[in-house]
Amino acid sequence: MNCVQCDYLLWDLPQSRCPECGLGYEVTDYSFSHSAVHFVCNYCGQSYLGTDKQGLPQPRKFECVCCHQPLDAAHMIVRPIADDAIGEPRHAGTPWQFRHRQGFFRGYVDGIARLALSPDEYFRLASGAREDGAMIFSVMSAYVSAALFVAALYLFRNSGLAAWLPNPTRLVTFPGIIYFICAVPFLHLAWTYLYGLLIQTVLWGLGLPKCEFDASLRAVALGSAVLPAVLLFPPVGLIWYLLVVRSGLEHLHATTSAKALAAAAVPMLLAANTGLLVLVLYWVA
Ligand SMILES: [Zn+2]
Ligand SMILES: [Zn+2]
Repeated sequence: MNCVQCDYLLWDLPQSRCPECGLGYEVTDYSFSHSAVHFVCNYCGQSYLGTDKQGLPQPRKFECVCCHQPLDAAHMIVRPIADDAIGEPRHAGTPWQFRHRQGFFRGYVDGIARLALSPDEYFRLASGAREDGAMIFSVMSAYVSAALFVAALYLFRNSGLAAWLPNPTRLVTFPGIIYFICAVPFLHLAWTYLYGLLIQTVLWGLGLPKCEFDASLRAVALGSAVLPAVLLFPPVGLIWYLLVVRSGLEHLHATTSAKALAAAAVPMLLAANTGLLVLVLYWVA
């Protein structure tokens, strides 16, 4: 069981953090061979064997039979009891999660490409324990998308293809640009939290009350990798966005593809209907 970042051996550690490089991990990010390791209570030292397919204690969260403290397999001490004991990492991490080592820009571009083209792979690699700066990623993507949108508007208008469009130069000259710079993250984060909350409500309705809000928020935030497509060509962009968020929900909540799709799609349909209603009311008035 080695640190995925620096290869340090992680046996027998009371804190789920690599002492060498400081990377946080969860024991449940690894799989173990049967009866090769003990999972040890952090409070009293009582040891447990892994019983499920991944070689981990089942259920993951339980009460210590000895000291009655609540235990979570993700943060227990792992002690090898066989010579050939190994822990295979199931989530190797993504370049974006390792951006401080692999470069911020490279990590970001890799994140965009991977999330847009193979979101399942991104979320499989991404570990739940690793801080993945989903919000930074998300706000950066919002700026990139907004800039592309303004550029497209400018091109269409000034080439005479669509001269009726509003003039975007007001947005990139003072004082419009100040509003623009403030409004983009504000609107984007408001939407991200709203969407996350609605997803959470649907998950709750589907009988999955244990799904954490943070994970839903992460899925939505990372889904903004395809925001340029949403703004530039909504018919395709929105479906694409939906599919990336679905993939995130499926992996981060460890749920079924169908439930993840429902959780991602229902709020989107609600939002579309509300938007339509507002338009109709506006038109009537
Ligand atoms: Zn390390
Ligand atoms: Zn105990």
